[in-house]
Amino acid sequence: MTLEELKGVVSEVGLPAYAAKQMADWIYKKKITRISEMTNIAVAKRALLEESFEIGAYPPSEYQKSKDGTIKYLYAAGPGRFVESVYIPTDDRATLCVSSQVGCKMNCLFCMTGKQGFTANLTANQILNQIQSLPENDSLTNIVFMGMGEPLDNVDELFKVLEILTAPYGYAWSPKRITVSTIGVMKGLRRFLAESECHLAVSLHSPYPMERLSLMPVEKAFPVREVIDLIKQYDFSHQRRVSFEYIVFKNLNDSLKHAEALSCLLGGIPCRVNLIRFHAIPNVPLETSDITKMERFRDFLNAKGVVCTIRASRGEDIFAACGMLSTAKNVTFV
Ligand code: SF4
Repeated sequence: MTLEELKGVVSEVGLPAYAAKQMADWIYKKKITRISEMTNIAVAKRALLEESFEIGAYPPSEYQKSKDGTIKYLYAAGPGRFVESVYIPTDDRATLCVSSQVGCKMNCLFCMTGKQGFTANLTANQILNQIQSLPENDSLTNIVFMGMGEPLDNVDELFKVLEILTAPYGYAWSPKRITVSTIGVMKGLRRFLAESECHLAVSLHSPYPMERLSLMPVEKAFPVREVIDLIKQYDFSHQRRVSFEYIVFKNLNDSLKHAEALSCLLGGIPCRVNLIRFHAIPNVPLETSDITKMERFRDFLNAKGVVCTIRASRGEDIFAACGMLSTAKNVTFV
């Protein structure tokens, strides 16, 4: 719950408004797991709270560990519903890739979550639970909303989570440690750009509208040109960073002509392009580009003044890499 929501709770049980802040301290800073531990709240009021509310986090129901150290966790998210999140430790950081929906409506051709279809939005509680119950929670340095689902298609719950993560009453994380990834859902993106200071990552994958449409049906509703024009209205030279994700498919979007078109499209935005290897998924006739072509693409963009890097793949052997998350199989166990 946000502080405003906690104020509603304290007023419901007849506590003064300042008790909301005390409760936030217990939940988000001291991370207690029982309401009875809130010792600065009257015993009778704690009993009243316990009748209607619970606190704490529930643990993942399964995990798989990759040979590269990446760990994929499975969480129940209501009856017959599951989501995955991915913990990615490296030498200098530890990142959690968080899910925002059970499945996804967007049906990108290259994505297992898209193939699963959409079941439900996660609540703020279910999103935060992936962070709070993570066994490696104490070592986390970064959070990326790049797991299952399109975060800006679940914008109200996302904003509650971002507030709790960054507010002084909550986890008090710097927004610079958090990245929200989107394929460009315009209404949510407008709100995000106006209200949040977290980093933004936009899934691009092709500079050409028809080609992008063949990979990402969302291009029809939210053309990439409009997404870029909107982003250009904001100042990215200070705190917030914008990056563009570009999965590189063999003989589809890996030519220097594409790199040239991409540099024209992004011209004027201080940004980074992340090239991502395509991870093969069943029944999708796409292949990943080879590393030589990816390096040529990267070098071309860098020479044009567009910062470009090739992102290391993590967790492919446990289906935890980019585009590979799916819990369709878990539903059969219920
Ligand atoms: S890539 Fe993202 S937006 Fe597209 S289907 Fe997968 S989860 Fe949804």
